[in-house]
Amino acid sequence: MANSYDVIVIGAGPAGYVAAIRCAQLGLNVACIDEFRRKDGEPALGGTCLNVGCIPSKALLDSSEQYHKVNEELAGHGINVKGVSLDVPQMISRKDKVVADLTGGIRQLFKANKIEWLQGHGKLLTERRVEFTPHKGKAQTLQAQNVILATGSKPIDIGAAPVDEERILTSDAALEISEVPKRLGVIGAGVIGLEMGSVWNRLGSKVVLLEAQDEFLAPVDQQVARDAKRQFEKQGLDIRLGCRVTETRKGKTVSVHYEDKDGKQNIQVDKLIVAVGRRPNTEGLSHDDVELLTDERGFVHVNDHCETNIPGVYAVGDVVRGPMLAHKGSEEGMMVAELIAGQPGHVNYETIPWVIYTHPEIAWVGKTEAQLKKAGTPYKSGTFGFAATGRARAMDYPVGMVKILAHAETDRILGVHIGGPQASELITEAVVAMEFSASSEDLARTIHAHPTLSEAVHEAALSVDKRAIHKAN
Ligand code: FAD
Ligand code: NAD
Repeated sequence: MANSYDVIVIGAGPAGYVAAIRCAQLGLNVACIDEFRRKDGEPALGGTCLNVGCIPSKALLDSSEQYHKVNEELAGHGINVKGVSLDVPQMISRKDKVVADLTGGIRQLFKANKIEWLQGHGKLLTERRVEFTPHKGKAQTLQAQNVILATGSKPIDIGAAPVDEERILTSDAALEISEVPKRLGVIGAGVIGLEMGSVWNRLGSKVVLLEAQDEFLAPVDQQVARDAKRQFEKQGLDIRLGCRVTETRKGKTVSVHYEDKDGKQNIQVDKLIVAVGRRPNTEGLSHDDVELLTDERGFVHVNDHCETNIPGVYAVGDVVRGPMLAHKGSEEGMMVAELIAGQPGHVNYETIPWVIYTHPEIAWVGKTEAQLKKAGTPYKSGTFGFAATGRARAMDYPVGMVKILAHAETDRILGVHIGGPQASELITEAVVAMEFSASSEDLARTIHAHPTLSEAVHEAALSVDKRAIHKAN
């Protein structure tokens, strides 16, 4: 191991490992320190996203969707399947294999790019030095020209529901449940709550979500959110809003006490997931002598170029402001690598897509109608339901809608909101359009293949000017 590098990255999640690879591509000499260890104790690259976040959750969402299809949907297609059974440990080990394959892939990429993977804890010292404490062995001091902090985030815990990872779980342990809980409680009906709630609901749990806010999915366009809530409730998710959890008691079951507008309430569940948000991972990240500026919520303070207050020290991903999304962190990682190499790196924070991988999927980019109203921006809106597209009908999934918001005077697209089949894939068209400052007219004049789900995007764009073909405008 050398002790001097052009760049030391602390954290090998999608922000840190992407930054490391891009730095290496640009000819810089890079080390990446990461302390993550799998349940078997082995170190693994990829951070939260690959190990206990995006990838394992999507693997379980996909498996549970297959199970649901076989049980509930195939008969409608004339396919009768008998003797269906569920093997949850196999589902979990398939998920583990998907994760292992992908994290192994990052290891190969590190090798190919000659990035030194240092397994252990990294701590920022003064003068761009970094203390590296390996999992086994003594701490040593490394020197770098530039340091990139990419230490990510961890689950927020609440006093009323202390996590033990047996009965009361974070999302980490929720990805390891090995048999279907009869009753599952989730505190927080946000992204994780809805995704994990959907997994276990499809596999047969009775799922209750307790959400503090009165509004369902407050950051989402409320027309799409209301539509999605109806679908989720049809599927059996019991979503209770305006709930304040006051206490949990563990016996044979977990007794969850909460208050809502009607007073004190109580539910009994077999497992309880706490999914009330995540906080930046900055514990032990810098030495007391280092005056690294953080904001009031503990995020490392950065400017638009992800520069911290210390020259030569950058921070990217969940540990800084902005949405806690893998692709946002990766873009920041690439931008910083390019800036370090003297290139003009840039992230367009106005066009970061969001996706919630439920059924229907929810995806959006740009402003919601409520945000435009609040800002006093004049806008026009076009909507189109998937029910009127041939493809969604052929797929037997005619639910949800596309909504496009465009500036009333310039017609520039300001926001696109989709709730429906494959919204996660469809949103990319909107992101590209917005990246190129497209108008709704541009989308309306773009030829979309027939029959595709993307025709709903086309028709929504036409509908902005009240000229959608397959609906009464
Ligand atoms: P992380 O991925 O958290 O990586 C940080 C790494 O740094 C970790 O390996 C950590 O161990 C290590 N580390 C921390 N401190 C130190 C230290 N001092 N020294 C050495 N190493 C350290 N986002 C999406 O975009 N799409 C999704 O579908 C999605 N699904 C998710 C599902 C779940 C259940 C969860 C929990 C999150 C999900 N996210 C999703 C969010 C996504 O995982 C994060 O936004 C992303 O992982 C952040 O990347 P990061 O590189 O900033 O940090
Ligand atoms: P979240 O912010 O999406 O949802 C948390 C929910 O909990 C909110 O609705 C909030 O109002 C509620 N809440 C907060 N305190 C509460 C309390 N005491 N009692 C009841 N409800 C309470 O956070 P999350 O679901 O924990 O996910 C964390 C982050 O991880 C997300 O914000 C997102 O950035 C990322 N993530 C992304 C994806 C994806 O992109 N598909 C998936 C999972 C996680």
